[in-house]
Amino acid sequence: MAIVEKRRKAGSSRTTQHSASASTKVLPLRERTLNFGDKWDYAPSPEDNKSFPIAPRHELFIGGKFVAPRARRYFDSINPATEEKLTEIAHADGRDVAAATAAARTAYEKVWSPMSGRERGKYLYRIARIIQERSRELAVLETMDGGKPIKESRDIDLPLVAAHFFYYAGWADKLKYAFPGRSPRPLGVAGQIIPWNFPLLMAAWKIAPALACGNTVVLKPAETTSITAMRLAQIFQEAELPPGVVNIVTGAGETGAALVQQRGIDKIAFTGSTEVGKLIAKSVAERGADAPRLTLELGGKAANIVFEDAAIDQAIEGIIAGIYFNQGHVCCAGSRLFVQEGIYKTVIRKLRDRIQTMRVGNPLDKNTDIGAINSATQLKKIRALVQSGVDEGAHLEQTRCRLPAKGYWYPPTFLTNVTASHRVAQEEIFGPVLSVMTFRTPEEAFERANNTPYGLSAGVWTDKGSKIFKMAQKLRAGVVWANTFNKFDPTSPFGGYKESGFGREGGLQGLSAYCRLE
Ligand code: ADP
Repeated sequence: MAIVEKRRKAGSSRTTQHSASASTKVLPLRERTLNFGDKWDYAPSPEDNKSFPIAPRHELFIGGKFVAPRARRYFDSINPATEEKLTEIAHADGRDVAAATAAARTAYEKVWSPMSGRERGKYLYRIARIIQERSRELAVLETMDGGKPIKESRDIDLPLVAAHFFYYAGWADKLKYAFPGRSPRPLGVAGQIIPWNFPLLMAAWKIAPALACGNTVVLKPAETTSITAMRLAQIFQEAELPPGVVNIVTGAGETGAALVQQRGIDKIAFTGSTEVGKLIAKSVAERGADAPRLTLELGGKAANIVFEDAAIDQAIEGIIAGIYFNQGHVCCAGSRLFVQEGIYKTVIRKLRDRIQTMRVGNPLDKNTDIGAINSATQLKKIRALVQSGVDEGAHLEQTRCRLPAKGYWYPPTFLTNVTASHRVAQEEIFGPVLSVMTFRTPEEAFERANNTPYGLSAGVWTDKGSKIFKMAQKLRAGVVWANTFNKFDPTSPFGGYKESGFGREGGLQGLSAYCRLE
């Protein structure tokens, strides 16, 4: 990449791509580094990859059984922190998708939709409890397959996964009270396509409400993170979920496209890029009267807005959580920071110091803050977009940490001197890269924040409640966090405006996406 090349020309012997080069417009890093990792190391983490063996091959989960794909095709799943092969994953084609849909249809008609909500709820509670019991195993595998730090998969993802199953289990026998005066009926078979940033959590967001309402499911996980979805299939077996109620077909984009085009699917729910979301919307629209229902949760370019009267240290932590959580692999990541001019210098100084304390490295180490980038492709995209920012005149600030020699890594980064027209201010980066801009008045803040094709989330930092309400009303974003960021709860709806998609997941709204209200 250009950043690397320029540095190499400058004669640096360091092997990582993150260091500032003389030829780019980079602010000098302070001499006083706060990188504790260079000074001493913590004790090793108890989690390790020996504790939970991974089978060399993973088949499809159809009709309650693990079955080989018709074409006998498999692809490798890699640990992004080591580039080691973890296992082989089955590649489902249209015939496998049709078989999974047929199994889901039979289960829907014969077992799941006739079953009482009370009985369905028991299965969901059982699944939630097994997830809790096996959460250490699931967290370790999630981290190995996806690259996210174990402290996030263990303390954030897994508790939320179980919480979603518990929450929707609670609704299964109370559906008639959920929508007063209306009778909710299930839709039928739901085809669900999920991304790699929160593999198990996205599966839970989609499967739990669908099952609670009496639908059956064909799920397609992302190609780089299928291992935990297949462990979830084992959990469904352990919970004795009737065969065919949830089917899992693994594969890449073609498998997803086959699922979208499959006849006999009543609802498509997709979370992923805006680009693929548009393809899916087009493909569904072309089906006319035969089209399934559709919900899309797509990209974002969230603004974190910090006013002069905010508690600055608290805001710095929120900014860090907003953009560096899960390496920035979060569609609602606070990737644009708007700082009121009077506190700009202070915020930049504190941000610069704070990112130096972040530990980048082995995601299985419980002290790691920033894990591995999910794939080589994603790393390439991040590097290219950051380079475009530097080329357009932005100033690059990065940590001086050493990155491991193998694996896909990108250090915590922020860009200053960014203008609204820069690609880094407009396009989703999906990496640990923050673009910093300034504003003077609240009006300027929400106008600039809304100046993007996306509208998934935003954050406001201020001491004044009235300012929070005013901003929340003006911001065109599905979620507005106030004096916090990236907080999730199964009871609150999540979803976007504009090119961030339509439909909501979570809460009652998440239930209504899987019901026909009569
Ligand atoms: P991201 O940029 O987050 O990787 P993608 O939109 O590429 O998001 O992928 C999200 C999910 O959509 C993955 O499971 C992927 O395999 C699937 N997918 C990719 N292309 C298509 C497509 N054309 N039709 C349906 N699903 C697709």
